[in-house]
Amino acid sequence: MFVIIFGPPGAGKGTQAARIVQAHPIPQVATGDIFRKNLREGTALGIEAKGYMEAGKLVPDELVSKIVADRLQQDDCVAGALLDGFPRSLPQACFLDAWLAERGMAIGLVVHLVVPDSVIVERMGGRRTCTNCGATYHVSVSPTKVQGICDRCGSQVIQRPDDNEATVLTRLATYHEQTSPIVEHYRALGVVADVEGVGSIDRIGDHVIEAITKAFPV
Ligand code: AMP
Repeated sequence: MFVIIFGPPGAGKGTQAARIVQAHPIPQVATGDIFRKNLREGTALGIEAKGYMEAGKLVPDELVSKIVADRLQQDDCVAGALLDGFPRSLPQACFLDAWLAERGMAIGLVVHLVVPDSVIVERMGGRRTCTNCGATYHVSVSPTKVQGICDRCGSQVIQRPDDNEATVLTRLATYHEQTSPIVEHYRALGVVADVEGVGSIDRIGDHVIEAITKAFPV
């Protein structure tokens, strides 16, 4: 079961991904989280990705694709994975499709979270992220119980450096130019479920799980 959770930055991909992996025993492969972990640990990969991330640009396709292929080769991905933040360009999508096809597999579902730009800009301004576990909050909609401290793991919660308004606008432009064409690529393959990504997190989550149940009936 290979599923892509797809949408613009701030669409709620990470939030819904956490719910999906609770309901289905597949690992979440989040490229942004992989880069941030490498950045924290000061690895060569983290150092290479840093400039792109801070500018709101995409890390080069070859680099990201190799990281994802290495990750998907690990034992826990044998029955599938939930891809969060990958693919983000048509070359990445084609790489992924070919990589899976070589192994007799394919993407079974793309959950496309549909959120207008105006909502994204408002959401990202108030978004706060745990520096350790990646849990996300919103200063007014879903704040931490104790200011600045993650409810889940007790670590520090901050505004991601790339969540400032100027970088968010660049990330949105990057999304529209390079990432959103992927939807039509997968729509042509008949595997896209559009889910309205505005409203209560629970209600959106119900629609996401419904789409997965429909695509993978038991
Ligand atoms: P995210 O946490 O998914 O919003 O990703 C944060 C940043 O990591 C992005 O703005 C990109 O700079 C980089 N990144 C994450 N995933 C990818 C990808 N699939 N391709 C290129 N860059 C990526």
